[in-house]
Amino acid sequence: MSRRISVLGATGSIGASTLDLVARQPGEWQVVALTANCQAEELARLARQFGAELAVVADESCLGELRAALAGSGIEAAGGAQALVDAAARPTDITVAAIVGCAGLAPTMAAIEQGRTVALANKEALVSAGDVMKAAVARAGATLLPMDSEHNAIFQCLAGNDPAHVRSITLTASGGPFRDWTAEQLAKATPAQAVRHPNWSMGAKISVDSATMFNKGLELIEAWHLFPVGLDALRIVVHPQSVIHSMVEYRDGSTLAQLGPSDMRVPIASCLAWPERMDTPCPPLDLAQLGQMTFRAPDEERFPATRLARQAAEAGGAAPAVLNAGNEIAVAAFLDGHLPFTRIAVMVEELLARYAPPPAASLDEVIAIDAEARDYARRMLETV
Ligand code: NAD
Ligand code: MG
Repeated sequence: MSRRISVLGATGSIGASTLDLVARQPGEWQVVALTANCQAEELARLARQFGAELAVVADESCLGELRAALAGSGIEAAGGAQALVDAAARPTDITVAAIVGCAGLAPTMAAIEQGRTVALANKEALVSAGDVMKAAVARAGATLLPMDSEHNAIFQCLAGNDPAHVRSITLTASGGPFRDWTAEQLAKATPAQAVRHPNWSMGAKISVDSATMFNKGLELIEAWHLFPVGLDALRIVVHPQSVIHSMVEYRDGSTLAQLGPSDMRVPIASCLAWPERMDTPCPPLDLAQLGQMTFRAPDEERFPATRLARQAAEAGGAAPAVLNAGNEIAVAAFLDGHLPFTRIAVMVEELLARYAPPPAASLDEVIAIDAEARDYARRMLETV
C-alpha cells in the first residue's frame, strides 16, 4: 500500500531532496499537498510530475499564475495563509515540514494536529513555539521525527537506549564558509560569500545562518526541546569535514556517533523510512579516502550566535522566539545588502535586551510575539 505524503516547502532545497527520494520509489508514495511561497511555475511542474492532489502558494498574489500553470491537470490550486494551513491539515501518513522560517509554524502545527508523523526540517518553528509545539505533539499523539542532520543523528544514537543514561549530547558544526576568517574579514563578508557553503548545498537563509553560526544556535535550542537533556549537557564542537553528524555520550563513557556523507537525503531517508530503512543514491563513506577528521572548540568571540542562543534558552519563555525573529529580519537585511555581516549578531543581542515579552501559551501568542519582535527588529534596522 502506498503512503500519503505532503511536502510543505516543496520548491526548496529540502523539498527537492525529499521529492528526489520519493521519485526513486515509484508506487510507494501518494503525494497529497505540495506547497511553496510563490514559485508557481516550479510548484506546478512538481505537482504534475508527482500527481499531487493539491498545490498551494502561500503568497496569494501568485495563485493566478499557479492556476494557469495547472490548467487541465485536475490538480487543485489554492493560495494564501489559510489555504496553506488547510493543506497541511489534509490527512497524510507523513508530512515533511520544510518551509524556511517561522512562516512554517502554523502549517507545521496543523500537520501535527493530524496526530500522524511530521518530519521536521523547519527548525525555526520549533525554536519559536517550543513548549507550545511539544504540547500539541503530545495532545495529538503525533510523532515528530527530526530531519535536521544533527538531530536525526542524535535520534539514531538514542534509539534502543534509556535516555536516563545520557551524559551529554554533542552537536557537530562545520563552522561554515567563514570558519577561519578574522574579525576584520568577517566585517566585510558579502552575501555571495556567505551563501557559498563548503560542504552543504542549502537555501540562502540557512546558508547565512551557517556562516554566522546562528544555525548551530538554533539547533542547540532545537536539541534542547527534542531530547531529554538539560542545556548543560548540550555541547557544540566544530568538525569541518561534516562526516560525524552528532554524538551521544552515555554515563559509562560510551559515545555513539552517526556518520554519513554530507547529503541531506540521508537524514531525509531516515525519516521517510522510519522505523525501517531505505536505499539512497548517496555514495558510501570512504574513510580511507577522507584520511582525517578534525575537531575544535567553537570561537564565540568571532561567532557570538551560539552564546546568544544558549542565553535565550536559559532565559526561556519567549526569548528563543525573539532571537529567531530578530535573526530572520537581520539575515534578510544582510542578504539585501542593508546590514553588515557582523551586525546580525549585534542586532539580535540588542533585540533580546530590549524586547522581553511574557511566555506564549498558545500558537496565536507565539505568532503575535514573532510579529512584534519582527516589527521591533525592523525599527532597529532604520537606525543602522
Ligand atoms: P529553501 O529556501 O531552499 O526553501 C524554502 C521553502 O519554503 C521553499 O519551498 C519556499 O517556497 C518556502 N517558503 C519560503 N518562504 C515561505 C513563506 N513565507 N510561506 C510559505 N512558504 C515559504 O530552504 P531550505 O534550505 O530547504 O530549508 C528549509 C528548512 O529546512 C529551513 O528551516 C532550514 O533551516 C531547514 N534545514 C535545511 C537544510 C538544508 O540542507 N537545506 C538542512 C537542515 C535543515
Ligand atoms: Mg543541521
